[in-house]
Amino acid sequence: MPMTFYTLLVPCTFLLFMFAYGACVGSLVNVLVYRLPRGMGVVRPASRCPSCGTKLTFRENIPILGWLLLRGRCRFCGQRISPEYPLVEAAVALLFAGVYLFFFGLPEMGRGPWFDALQPEWAINGLASSWPQLVVIVLLFGALTAVTLIDARTAQIPLVLVWAPAVLALLLHVGFAVFVQARHGNPVVELPTLGWRLADGKRWMAAPGHIWSIPTAGIHGWWFVGLAVGGMVGLGIAVALLESGLIRRSFADYDEWEAQARAAAQTHADGDGSSAPSESGDGGALPPASAGGVSVEEATSPSTATPVKPAPMETGGTAEDAEMWIQYPHARREMLKEVAFVSMPLTLAFVGVWLGPWIVEQAYGPWSQSDVFSMERIPPVNVPLWLSVLSGVLGGYLIGGAVVWGVRILGSLAFGKEALGLGDVHLVAAIGACVGWIDAILGFFAAAFVGLAWTLLGAVVSGRLGRTLPYGPYIAVATLLVVVGKPGIEWILTRLSGVPINLP
Ligand SMILES: [Zn+2]
Repeated sequence: MPMTFYTLLVPCTFLLFMFAYGACVGSLVNVLVYRLPRGMGVVRPASRCPSCGTKLTFRENIPILGWLLLRGRCRFCGQRISPEYPLVEAAVALLFAGVYLFFFGLPEMGRGPWFDALQPEWAINGLASSWPQLVVIVLLFGALTAVTLIDARTAQIPLVLVWAPAVLALLLHVGFAVFVQARHGNPVVELPTLGWRLADGKRWMAAPGHIWSIPTAGIHGWWFVGLAVGGMVGLGIAVALLESGLIRRSFADYDEWEAQARAAAQTHADGDGSSAPSESGDGGALPPASAGGVSVEEATSPSTATPVKPAPMETGGTAEDAEMWIQYPHARREMLKEVAFVSMPLTLAFVGVWLGPWIVEQAYGPWSQSDVFSMERIPPVNVPLWLSVLSGVLGGYLIGGAVVWGVRILGSLAFGKEALGLGDVHLVAAIGACVGWIDAILGFFAAAFVGLAWTLLGAVVSGRLGRTLPYGPYIAVATLLVVVGKPGIEWILTRLSGVPINLP
């Protein structure tokens, strides 16, 4: 059938919807980026002009268009409004529409080999059977946009920005699995029908017409169920011990040390006769939202608009000022406290790997050996779909976080200063919950190359090596590249080698 208006009508409507959806999320990103570091409420104070306090009307609140309607100035007092707001909204809108186009395309595109190559496996059966995966991914990207903007400016990652996508992933992935199971029953996949994809039996839980976007326990993966459940129990115990004070918080004396170090530096500076006023002990004011020129930002009321002092955030990280925290002398000692914390989920995850299959054997009888593949041991009962997907989300959270935390602990022990923030641990854990442990780890390690590329690009553009950003923005960009680019890389490798390549 030739491409007609009608064959394109539905997908183009979806495309427009995704663009509008992205613009609205971008608008929320603006609010979060402005308010979270300042400790302001997200919902309650309506958007206002920071200079005169005039509330924005409904029309002026429309993403992108509102700013254009106002021509970038306050209707009442004429103060300029930063173009960052419409730019962020447009960027997130394009991101959402682009991801949709990339994963689902327009019907005519589905027939070209290049599109088939770029389409991830889970999207093959169409939007109707995979929309929760799409929603999790685009909202993760929206949160990563906010993380990027906040982390780049304040070296902090507000916990709500990593908790929200992780909880959303839990609800949507598992909720959809429950729905699929209720509708189709527990899927039983005959091993030989999976063909060369057999090795994926452990990674993907295939229901009729459904392939999960994240690595799950799989129909035989009771050990992975044990790992996820055991790890979460261990994490719960570790958090309880931390709250009760039996495990001590790392870097608890950092603020005290920083105040002393600053006071000492101040005395030294005064002794030199230098009268340059140093920033107050809170670690410096927030940089303005717009890099140059007059920037106008919203605030609760005109009286609180200046000066902006970042509220202390529960970020887990301590880095406020790169110059300061690097000098903190006790990073190695503090790592021992973190090892005590991490050892709890780690130990129980290992116990779970053994305990999961054991419990199944006690309850349902012995495992059998596969006729086809001698390595495969077949459990007496399959992992139910909802439990498989739940384990995939929890396992992604645990493994993603554990890998980054391991790198942080080893790096800090090796260099004697804090390597990576705890915010990065939270961030990759949340990414793991949304897109699975494999992509989270790939993204984390690819982030080093993104950082290198950014630094080199900056050097080429400005002619000198600039300040490097915190790691969060690199992780965000690398995650986007991994999630969107992996099918294409698989396709290229398959073409080059002649053997079907399916990256983990
Ligand atoms: Zn105004």
